Amino acid sequence: MTATGRIVRWSVLVIAIAMGAIRLVGLHGIWPAVRIAEGSMAPNLLGEHFQLTCRDCRMVVRYDAHAPPRDGRVVCWNCGADNDHRIDQRVQAGQRVLIDRRAFDWRTPNRWDVVAFPMPDHPSRWAVKRILGLPGERIQFRQGNVIANGRIVRKSLAQLRRMALLVHDNDRQPPRELGMPPRWRTEFPDSEWHADGSRLLFRPQEGGRQPLDWTFYQHWPGYAGVVTRAEPSPILDNDGYNQQLSRRLNVVTDIMLACRIRIGDGHGRLAFEITDLTDRYRIELCFRHRQLVWFRNFDERSRVTLPRFAFARRVLVELAWCDGQLLFAIDGHTLIRDVWEDDDSDRSHRQEREDVSNADSRDPISRIAIGAEGTKITVDRLRVLRDVHYLPPSYVEPHWMLGPDEVFVVGDNVPLSRDSRHWKRPGVPVQQLWGRVLAVKQLQK
Ligand SMILES: [Zn+2]
Repeated sequence: MTATGRIVRWSVLVIAIAMGAIRLVGLHGIWPAVRIAEGSMAPNLLGEHFQLTCRDCRMVVRYDAHAPPRDGRVVCWNCGADNDHRIDQRVQAGQRVLIDRRAFDWRTPNRWDVVAFPMPDHPSRWAVKRILGLPGERIQFRQGNVIANGRIVRKSLAQLRRMALLVHDNDRQPPRELGMPPRWRTEFPDSEWHADGSRLLFRPQEGGRQPLDWTFYQHWPGYAGVVTRAEPSPILDNDGYNQQLSRRLNVVTDIMLACRIRIGDGHGRLAFEITDLTDRYRIELCFRHRQLVWFRNFDERSRVTLPRFAFARRVLVELAWCDGQLLFAIDGHTLIRDVWEDDDSDRSHRQEREDVSNADSRDPISRIAIGAEGTKITVDRLRVLRDVHYLPPSYVEPHWMLGPDEVFVVGDNVPLSRDSRHWKRPGVPVQQLWGRVLAVKQLQK
């Protein structure tokens, strides 16, 4: 390397260190800590709330302290148990977060950033919401998804992980003495899938069931109403935080499965299925041929060589149908991101099917399944999650136009939040953003 080259390298390094120092020195001055007061970002950011441990499944249920249940009943969203709201309990403080006041000095705001700004209808109050729309965009919602300039907005796996809401955690189940039906069921009585506490074991016998043997997730309602606790239910946009709010619930098509899987030494197959109420997606891991194959409605979409880490002893598997795309990852490596482009005929067909499912929201349709053949498999840390389901404030389907320097903001607690959907002028000017909210801690994942 020449002397000039060395000088250039050193000065770049010095500048990088100096910039790092400025960011660190600013930690107290320009990263003020604030406390969230209200529940418009719950459950990802909690305002003042009550909490209890469910008497049956031991899940910690957190709910809005500003609107506790009038009838004194707190329904566990995970197992549907009725818990008593104790009126003498202490209010839990809202979550503390840091605001990076300099975030937008270096870059323009990104979609899905959580930001703080003065409330347009109460400028003396601050609000924390998530950015859904960027300057100049035309924003709509369709089937719970965000549509920007006519195209569906898609999250990466990392973005989905940050926003996804837990729907069921198999590590939190009612005690066996209650005799409740299992959440993961099998198709046949001679299935080789067995529950072992919160784990699922697949132990194939010699000459056992061929081909794939499936276990299915069965959802329960998890809200107060005239429903039986363990009645099969589609996954709805139910939430445990708004215990007092009474509203129509919607079928959520965007769901995710996360689990840890230990694969035996056999040469069999492991498969996953996920449906969005109209279509069925299947992913097969074939250990004998070291291949990963995926299908839409039994038509093969593609196949790739299965990477070596897929054979590790215990791996994290994530599968999602979200924002019109199929996502599949092992140990955080996204192996499939298969996108369906918007198509009008397809969309109207889907809309029709969704209306049917809304009309009969008790349809006991199972949306997620795990199949196996020919190798020992152990599944644990089984969680079912869903994407945030965006709704317009009324039944009419509006759209919102943003100015050249405005962003569209909505709270993750969609039914409770007051935001761009309600304000006379929906956009928040970028220069009014106070900063980006950091330390968005996930409490229930
Ligand atoms: Zn429970």
